[in-house]
Amino acid sequence: MAAKPVTLPKRVQLPDALNLPSFDKGWVWLAGGGPGDPGLITALGIHAIQNADVILYDALINETLLALARPGAELVFAGKRAGVKSCRQSDISRTLVALAKKGKRVLRLKGGDPFVFGRGGEEALALTRGGVPFRIVPGVTAGIGGLAYAGIPVTHRDTNHAVTFITGHGADGKLPKLDWAALAKGSPTIVMFMARKHAGEIAARLIAAGRARNEPAAIVSDATFAKQNVIVTTLEKLGEAVAASTAPAIIIVGENVRLREGLDWIGALAGRVLEPWPLGKPKLSAAV
Ligand code: SAH
Repeated sequence: MAAKPVTLPKRVQLPDALNLPSFDKGWVWLAGGGPGDPGLITALGIHAIQNADVILYDALINETLLALARPGAELVFAGKRAGVKSCRQSDISRTLVALAKKGKRVLRLKGGDPFVFGRGGEEALALTRGGVPFRIVPGVTAGIGGLAYAGIPVTHRDTNHAVTFITGHGADGKLPKLDWAALAKGSPTIVMFMARKHAGEIAARLIAAGRARNEPAAIVSDATFAKQNVIVTTLEKLGEAVAASTAPAIIIVGENVRLREGLDWIGALAGRVLEPWPLGKPKLSAAV
């Protein structure tokens, strides 16, 4: 039987297929690169990297993403790294404005989502003040996507109806001024960014406000990278466990940490047997 000729549909390029906006000269795009696994960047994020004239990138960015930059694009490291003095926020904002005014397509690439504890709002406001047009490209935040790679859903019907994101590090480097007692009472699940330094103190405050000492907690270091490491502990032992962890890390406190027993899909790839009922089997009466 002779094969029938097949007409393939016309191949459409990403920008047309997804109706992506053009990256115009004199614009700044403030984009999230996701938590680490390069595949977690958005299509708009890739488009931005491919078209930028200058890319100012953060320490938390997976640098393999920069290989997508067009030949000749200028790549500028603008972030914090252990042992290296951090770039001043005002310098970064000023540079963004100056480059845009020179007519460059400027990409500010940040880890995770630019508007989640990333100072994206501060940089965008500097653009507003400087009269520079900009676009915000959201990204997958470590506080949600990073935990998903540890098999921990940030919400689950049987464990929590709310989740609170906090930073463990105030602008002055001290414990932020939060109402810890209200947080302990009102938020069943607490996800902490930049909290390694003060984790022990935060745990003590939550316990003092009534949270159970043996409430589960997890520390996810280098989330979504191949070197991701997860430590499961309790609120009482959080400070100690954090000392054995590495940065960057997301910390989560809440009953939903137990779901990892059944949802650690990365562990399963390496042979871990997942627990079908990580929260215990429902009682027969409840199942009806
Ligand atoms: N905008 C980022 C957060 C920046 S604040 C986001 O949305 O994810 C920096 C903090 O984010 C780190 O101290 C750490 O708490 C967390 N973080 C960022 N990337 C991480 C990763 N790959 N693994 C674990 N924590 C991460």
